[in-house]
Amino acid sequence: MTRIDDLPVRDELRGKSPYGAPQLDVPVRLNTNENPYPLPEPLVERIAERVREAARNLNRYPDRDAVELRTELARYLTRTAKYPVAVENVWAANGSNEVIQQLLQTFGGPGRTAIGFEPSYSMHGLIARGTGTGWISGPRSADFTIDTETAAKAIAENQPDVVFITSPNNPTGTAVPTETVIALYDAAQAAKPSMVVLDEAYIEFSHGDSLLSLLEGRPHLVVSRTMSKAFGAAGLRLGYLAADPAVVDAVQLVRLPYHLSAVTQATALAALEHTDTLLGYVAQLKHERDRVVRELWEMGYEVTASDANFVQFGRFEGEGAAHAMWQRILDRGVLVRDNGVPGWLRVTAGTPEENDAFLAAVRELKKEQE
Ligand code: PMP
Repeated sequence: MTRIDDLPVRDELRGKSPYGAPQLDVPVRLNTNENPYPLPEPLVERIAERVREAARNLNRYPDRDAVELRTELARYLTRTAKYPVAVENVWAANGSNEVIQQLLQTFGGPGRTAIGFEPSYSMHGLIARGTGTGWISGPRSADFTIDTETAAKAIAENQPDVVFITSPNNPTGTAVPTETVIALYDAAQAAKPSMVVLDEAYIEFSHGDSLLSLLEGRPHLVVSRTMSKAFGAAGLRLGYLAADPAVVDAVQLVRLPYHLSAVTQATALAALEHTDTLLGYVAQLKHERDRVVRELWEMGYEVTASDANFVQFGRFEGEGAAHAMWQRILDRGVLVRDNGVPGWLRVTAGTPEENDAFLAAVRELKKEQE
């Protein structure tokens, strides 16, 4: 049998594993930070209508620049983040993973490096590797916050070409204070200057606001967003960024022609028409997230403060203890996530019923341990 390493794959891919959150068929799936609510029926109807229209033109390539969609995304950002952006500030791709890939293809690549403050979203490092960009694992404090001085020092020492800041951070849930983002941007400019990517995939769930307004006067800042979480449309694959128009022009040097299908553009436009309903689910999820935090805390678990639609909880002391706990929770029909952060697991906020099932499982396990 031929294995990957028998093929002449690039050296940096040898012995590596692909992204692989388990997709298991269990009653309660709270492991990939999806929105648990299916799209409302009127929106499903609207998608069908828009896609039917798009289907009539599928003999033609889609709008290569996705102008209508980017205009609507700009309108959404302007309204919710209270900072005016226009179509020329916004770029869209197939999930924010593709946005990140395009950014690394443009600003990273062979001979260049990117830094992220770990534990954080593992795909930043994996996409870096896939684009031939060197990866630097930057420091994070024991309480999972970013210590501004230590992080700025890491930027000064390593002189990376791209700096990732994830706020709220995945898997810890913590939001990054404005002053830290500004300080790290300044450190990155002093070093090279380099691009700073603020990954706001979960920002709609935050207690605080988007830092979109930091784009003012910061041409090397990129804010990346997604419709996978707050819009409940992980299956759609639609991510986007807001930045200086020059950044939008630059990523077009690497994007594949017609990368965003007409069906994707039509579906995303339909979803954006229903923004208010979808943000109503976000409010419900925030409430449930806070309940999960509170109840875990009351049971005696340690919980990291969360501004996202998931909660990091622990602590499970000892080698392999977190994974053993993950398995015990799974044995009770609830799939959570072991991100490999020693001592901690992550659970996505689901429907009240799903959260009840999760909380019942961990309550039982806590009692068994006592
Ligand atoms: N950024 C962060 C921090 C994430 O957690 C995720 C999804 N897990 C993404 C980006 C990518 O999301 P998508 O490609 O679905 O937009």
